[in-house]
Amino acid sequence: LQDKLNNAFRTLKGKDRISDINVAATTKEVRKALVDADVNFKVAKEITDRIREKALDRKILISVEPGQMFVKIVQEELTELMGGEAKAINTKGDPAVILIAGLQGSGKTTFTGKLAYLLKKQGKQVLLTAADVYRPAAIEQLKVLGEQVGVEVYSEPENKNPVTIAQNAIAHARKIGKKIVIVDTAGRLAVDEAMMQEVEDIKSAVKPSEILFVVDSMTGQDAVNTAKTFNERLNFDGVVLTKLDGDARGGAALSIRQIVDKPIKFISTGEKMEALDSFYPDRMASRILGMGDVISLVERAQQAFDEDEAKRINAKMRQNKFDFDDFLGQLQQIKKMGNVKDLIGMIPGMGSAMKDLDIDNESFKPIEAIIQSMTKKERENPEIIDGSRKKRIAAGSGTSILQVNNLIKQFDEMRKMMKKMNTMQAAGKLGKALR
Ligand code: GDP
Ligand code: MG
Repeated sequence: LQDKLNNAFRTLKGKDRISDINVAATTKEVRKALVDADVNFKVAKEITDRIREKALDRKILISVEPGQMFVKIVQEELTELMGGEAKAINTKGDPAVILIAGLQGSGKTTFTGKLAYLLKKQGKQVLLTAADVYRPAAIEQLKVLGEQVGVEVYSEPENKNPVTIAQNAIAHARKIGKKIVIVDTAGRLAVDEAMMQEVEDIKSAVKPSEILFVVDSMTGQDAVNTAKTFNERLNFDGVVLTKLDGDARGGAALSIRQIVDKPIKFISTGEKMEALDSFYPDRMASRILGMGDVISLVERAQQAFDEDEAKRINAKMRQNKFDFDDFLGQLQQIKKMGNVKDLIGMIPGMGSAMKDLDIDNESFKPIEAIIQSMTKKERENPEIIDGSRKKRIAAGSGTSILQVNNLIKQFDEMRKMMKKMNTMQAAGKLGKALR
């Protein structure tokens, strides 16, 4: 997914203004990337339509760093879609019953242990219940975890009925004063009727205050289908996304949230009992986007000298329309690239005009300040800058009239040089054509 998104953002590379065209191209790439990350096509389309609108809306804001602005918009949108704040689980009841459901191997038993540990740390009185009656090892597994976190595990190795086990566990909890009972259930490798019926029966018998559906984040589109089926039968309250310590990109979080519209409450990031986190939509959005990487990519893209921009500037020079805005844009480009002296020669026209000057990034500051103190009209038509305008610009930029004069003089010379170069180029072309 990340590579695809990187490609999407590459579309925006170096463009100094977001245009309808590159927003459209970029959102299209984002959509493809989301679809490939198991987001339902319709959902992905809805998401990207909204992203495109927002990006175009904020056109003015994005004049300097469109790539980063775009990433931010996508990030915000994904965060919102995944449900804003992290949601807590309901632990009210006497005792409160938390039912854990999901496919075999999804991480239910591991999560059950982790949740017990978390609640215990919050000072709650917890009882674990082993209601997986099909594998003797399942009871043993929960017992080991219970011991590890210091929470009692209720089990009945001879009883093959998970419903009565759960009921007996609740009675036992009341007797010994435990306030929360977590019921770990059995799963199957794939969704089947017997399993669904069994969890449904447990649900009707124990009336849980919270049903958590556990799903392996590595299983892609299957995770979404499984979530849908479980939700239709159980109407669960929240989702636990496991195995996010691997390289799962988290696309499942987005699609599950969109399709079943239930909050993701926890994420599980390892086999250790501590490896449990509340779900934070903004962090997941960053994960889906591979945020750090995308941002550094965008930064690198901005540092790189942009060919399109160079072409645009060249055309302006040819028409002798290079103005102070272009000049400022070029200065800002250079500054981003770091080593000014090495790079200055790359800028069309400016290389020869500024080669002999002793420049570093600091020496740009007064120049920028002066240009920024000019009105739009003045930047576009420097010839209108008369004495009184110069005075105003100097005062506004905290420089002297002499500095303003010098800059305008240099700029004039640069333009003359560009014109001369153009004439020479034109003469050369004419000569070639005549030959
Ligand atoms: P269950 O069949 O749903 O009860 O799943 P288990 O809790 O037994 O977990 C199945 C396997 O996944 C075990 O080997 C666990 O150690 C492993 N596992 C569970 N949660 C995580 C997790 O968050 N990260 C990793 N890497 N492994 C996990
Ligand atoms: Mg299990």
